[in-house]
Amino acid sequence: MKINKSIGCTVNECKYHAKEDSFCSLDHINVVKHHDRANSVEATDCGSFEVGK
Ligand code: SF4
Repeated sequence: MKINKSIGCTVNECKYHAKEDSFCSLDHINVVKHHDRANSVEATDCGSFEVGK
């Protein structure tokens, strides 16, 4: 699996997670917010997440 060392990620439930390392395997991700104004870390998220197997 390809590892993108520019995108660190600990969400190992995601199907794009590079399992052996804490990185994403995608070339690009989309970061999203959950409110009109993001005012905390919790208000942002990885919009490219997909449930793995
Ligand atoms: S798509 Fe998002 S949640 Fe999934 S491994 Fe990549 S950065 Fe993490």
